[in-house]
Amino acid sequence: SLAGSLQSVPASLRVPRWSRPFSTETHEFKAETKKLLDIVAKSLYTDKEVFIRELISNASDACEKLRFLQGTQQIKDVNDADAPLQVTLSVSESDRKFVIEDSGIGMTHDELIEHLGTIAKSGSLDFLQRGESDASKIIGQFGVGFYSTFVVADKVEVYTKTADKEKGEQGYLWTSDGSGSFTVSEVDDVPRGTRIELTLKDDATEFAKLATVKKSAQKFSSFIDFPINIKEDGD
Ligand code: ADP
Ligand code: MG
Repeated sequence: SLAGSLQSVPASLRVPRWSRPFSTETHEFKAETKKLLDIVAKSLYTDKEVFIRELISNASDACEKLRFLQGTQQIKDVNDADAPLQVTLSVSESDRKFVIEDSGIGMTHDELIEHLGTIAKSGSLDFLQRGESDASKIIGQFGVGFYSTFVVADKVEVYTKTADKEKGEQGYLWTSDGSGSFTVSEVDDVPRGTRIELTLKDDATEFAKLATVKKSAQKFSSFIDFPINIKEDGD
C-alpha cells in the first residue's frame, strides 16, 4: 500500500512531499468512464454552469453524511473536530481558478479511487448514449455529476481527508486533466473534508469571476442546509 511504501523509507532519506515521486500512483479511468467524460463534455457545452450545481450538491451531501454518521454514533472520533460544517467557494481571476471546499465526510485513499475513478451508477452511460435531449437532468439523476468539472476545467485537483479518525488522518490529492488517467498522492496538512480546485479552460474563465459564481451559486443553493461562503482570492 501507499502507507507501507512510505513507512519503508527511513525518515532521514525522505524528500519533501512536493518531490516524492514514489508517493504518486497513476490510475487509468475505466473504459466506460472515459466514454462518459466525452459525452458529458459535449452535451453540457452550452450549459456549463451545471458543474456548480453538481459540486455544491456533492459538498452538501458530504456535510449531510458527516452530520448523520456523527448523530448515529457511526463515527465517534472525528478529524478536526472543531471545524464547523460549511461550504466555501472561492475564485481567482488571475489564476483562472474556481475552488469549492467542504468540511464534510471527506474520502479515504480507497474511497477516492473508487468514487472518482468509476461511474457511480450503472445505467448512466446507456442513458446518455441514447441521445437524450436534456443531458444535464440525466447527469444529475444518474450521478455523473463530478465529471461535469471537465466541461470547464483542463485540470481538476481534489484534496481530501476523511472525517473518520478510525479510517485515518492522512490527506490525499487526486488530479486529472480528464483525458484518461488520474493520479493519487499523499499530501500533508489537508483539513477534514474535500477541496476541489478547477483550473478553468480558456472558454470558461467567466467562472473565475465572483459575480458569475455568486449568481450561479444562488440559483443552486436554495435547499442547502449549510452555510455557503463565496469569496475572491488573491486578486
Ligand atoms: P453522486 O453524487 O450522484 O454519487 P457524483 O459524480 O457527483 O455522483 O459523485 C461521485 C461520488 O464521489 C459521490 O457519491 C461521493 O462518494 C464522492 N464525492 C464527490 N464529491 C464529494 C465530496 N465533496 N465529499 C465527499 N465525497 C465526494
Ligand atoms: Mg453528485
